[in-house]
Amino acid sequence: MRTKIFTILAYVALLLTPFSLLADSSPSLSGHECVDMESIYELSEEARLYNIQLEEFTQWHIKNNNSLLESKTIVIPVVFHVFGDDFSGHIVNNEIIELALRKVNEDFKGLNDDFDDVDALFLGRRGILNIEFRLARVAPNGESTTGVLYYADKEGLAKTDPAIHEFIESIAWDNYKYMNVYICSDLIGDGVTNNSGFAWYPNKYMSDMGIARVVYNGRYLYGNIDKEFASVLTHEFGHWLNLIHTFQDGCKMPNDYVDDTPACDKAAMGCRDVKNCQGLLINGENYMDYNSSCYKMFTQGQVARMLAALESETRKPLWDSENLIRTGTDYTSAVNDLTSNKYLGIFPNPATEYIQINIVNKGLQPLVNNEEIKIFNTFGECVSTTPSAGASTPQEGNLSIDISHLPRGVYYIRIGNRTQMFVKM
Ligand SMILES: [Zn+2]
Repeated sequence: MRTKIFTILAYVALLLTPFSLLADSSPSLSGHECVDMESIYELSEEARLYNIQLEEFTQWHIKNNNSLLESKTIVIPVVFHVFGDDFSGHIVNNEIIELALRKVNEDFKGLNDDFDDVDALFLGRRGILNIEFRLARVAPNGESTTGVLYYADKEGLAKTDPAIHEFIESIAWDNYKYMNVYICSDLIGDGVTNNSGFAWYPNKYMSDMGIARVVYNGRYLYGNIDKEFASVLTHEFGHWLNLIHTFQDGCKMPNDYVDDTPACDKAAMGCRDVKNCQGLLINGENYMDYNSSCYKMFTQGQVARMLAALESETRKPLWDSENLIRTGTDYTSAVNDLTSNKYLGIFPNPATEYIQINIVNKGLQPLVNNEEIKIFNTFGECVSTTPSAGASTPQEGNLSIDISHLPRGVYYIRIGNRTQMFVKM
């Protein structure tokens, strides 16, 4: 299986121009499957030209980087479309999605617990992207949402044929406002249920069509699989931000267009102490290789490449501040912006034992004395009511609420007419 696929890969590589980009195939527990951008380019010459121009922009941006992005948290609104309820014996629910997304965010920010345990040569090359992928809280029609939508089972969502594109387009949320992730079991409709994921590089044709996406197997979401393999989702998100496999084209330059990731002769050569055809140690612990037992890091060069992608026309509108408000993903801004009169400030968020609520009352309807503080889960069920114990509810100031009894998940806390979201870990 592996030999056959790599033969196909080599063949595809021969067909590609230097700027043609091979999109995702992903590590799976057995076997590899690949989708190449060629199938998109065959549909549209414009799509091909877009990626050529994007690569030129990326190289320019890396050389002339004056991006302010590095100093702020970039928030990307995400919607998950979940197909089916059986993922090789596993389930996918909101909690699993939240866990999986949290794992992705930790990986991008270098908060994974093995971030310091990388090959010494690459310690100084590790890169951190201050990004948060957040579930959308407001749908395109303005209604509230959990950011996770459920559908009957469907196969082949990673295919690029017209029928699948038409279907994806019919349910997609605006690709310029939301990152769309599709969870299913049989990704390319061939009866195989252990393909892990597919993704495509940023492409205007795809975003315009509503088919820009990541497709991922529910059995490999964190919570259904160990943390190392769960980072395959991080790998796919890396592609969505224009990262190329570290083994792209083997030792042939420009390889992955990143200077600090030594070329790999092929995929999954091993985690450490493996040398490439040039005698250089490879970065086997990189998310963009296929060593799914030791996923630990991106490099600074890869982060620079992702920062460029975030400035591109298909990705920049997503993290625009107005879009974050529109999609309900600006919620932690209240923590940082206590002068806002729109929110209850919550700190810390996520939290484990207690949350501190900062009540800001400028221009708002006063809170009623003895107002109960209610906590709702994502299904709208009240899971906790805290009476104010006979004391007056403060109009301004801090309240500490015990949340230690709550299961992990996303919650909404409500006081009077004010609601704020928080995450219990
Ligand atoms: Zn990949």
